[in-house]
Amino acid sequence: MRQVIVAGNWKLNGTLQSITDLISGIKAGLSEDNKAKVIVCPVSIHIGKVAKLIDGSVIELGAQNACDQLAGAFTGEVSVNMLKEYGVQHVILGHSERRAIYGETDELIAAKFKTAKDAGLTPILCVGETLEEREAGDTENVVATQLDAIINAHGVAALDGAIIAYEPVWAIGTGKTATPEQAQEIHQFIRQKLAALDAAVAEKIQILYGGSVNGGNAKELFAKPDIDGGLIGGASLKADEFLKICTAAN
Ligand code: PEP
Repeated sequence: MRQVIVAGNWKLNGTLQSITDLISGIKAGLSEDNKAKVIVCPVSIHIGKVAKLIDGSVIELGAQNACDQLAGAFTGEVSVNMLKEYGVQHVILGHSERRAIYGETDELIAAKFKTAKDAGLTPILCVGETLEEREAGDTENVVATQLDAIINAHGVAALDGAIIAYEPVWAIGTGKTATPEQAQEIHQFIRQKLAALDAAVAEKIQILYGGSVNGGNAKELFAKPDIDGGLIGGASLKADEFLKICTAAN
């Protein structure tokens, strides 16, 4: 039985005051019988602060990005070991905003994935198609290519213990959620693709859905057999909405 994960991607949002309020709201509202693994991913400059705020709680810490290199002349980057020093356990890699806005390629994402995994961080690898790709019937090809970038470079075993987030680009921040059936279809495709290479990795890997998840639609999505939780953007910035999503996992 795979544990449901609810991971908040705060993106480029938050002030010292708002993140303090947000964490205190989540801590106060997380029920005793909470079953989800709860992860928050602040901007890197807020990581040290959030590490202190969540200390002693069940909330785990994730980063939104990391460098593929460990140290050196890489201005503006943050290394996996620096993240680890602050208690970060997870790192989002290959988010569609990083791919589309910052030009991150499959090759770079695969390099980051290896660096993070080798350091003992859990990569949350984002994959997903644009609206044009979906309408052209290319969804499975696109997702397969994004996965193959990791598998071909590092082997399917590299995905052991990692997390995958299926995030259709057309559903991110748009209020247009994939239906539970549409999401399940691709989650199942991902699991079957991995199962053809390594059944144990496929069975164990947690595949999150991301794209306009909120307190009202989470339960139906999480009820699907291959949907193991959510990567949450906008709704992770409001404690009450985020808590409803956590409750949907119970
Ligand atoms: C995301 O950015 O990963 C995301 C899923 O955003 P939203 O929930 O706002 O669509």
